Amino acid sequence: MIRGATKRAMLVLAFCSAACARHRAADVAAHPVPPPAPLPSPAAASAAHPAITTEAQTIAPELASAIGARVADLKARGGVCEEYGEVLESALATGRITLRPYMWRVDGNLASAQGESTGEMTIARDIDSLNVGVRRLDDVLRSAEHEAAHIALRIASGDPVREARVDERVNGCRSALPR
Ligand SMILES: [Zn+2]
Repeated sequence: MIRGATKRAMLVLAFCSAACARHRAADVAAHPVPPPAPLPSPAAASAAHPAITTEAQTIAPELASAIGARVADLKARGGVCEEYGEVLESALATGRITLRPYMWRVDGNLASAQGESTGEMTIARDIDSLNVGVRRLDDVLRSAEHEAAHIALRIASGDPVREARVDERVNGCRSALPR
């Protein structure tokens, strides 16, 4: 059933890329972003996560390290958070996360992230060559979580209601835990 599965993956991808692109591009454009936070040391993380695929080598260790930390937190939370945390963990471990230096065009829309039902995801580091540092590491991380949630919860993109549902899940899994 490879052909059928591939076709379905392509369908999900097509939906997601256009809608996420619009959604995320609008999101990035609409909110002024504070200066980037200091990043953790890349050296140690690089050795721990050699599997990450990237066209922007300089950020890969920081992103891999940040994803690793989020995965641990998501798994500790259980439920839906754990479900998409496992998708992220698997994508990281099997080298299915591609980091592109800048956002790219999909059907006329700017995309900051794109996920496939196979677990592959592509994420933009920066908006474009003039906006380096505007998109913070946490924005990149949030994009990865957003795509993982789409994949894990099988929520195809395509309308604002579904996008809002995905964002709501991700926000819920990022909120402070009660003590
Ligand atoms: Zn989306």
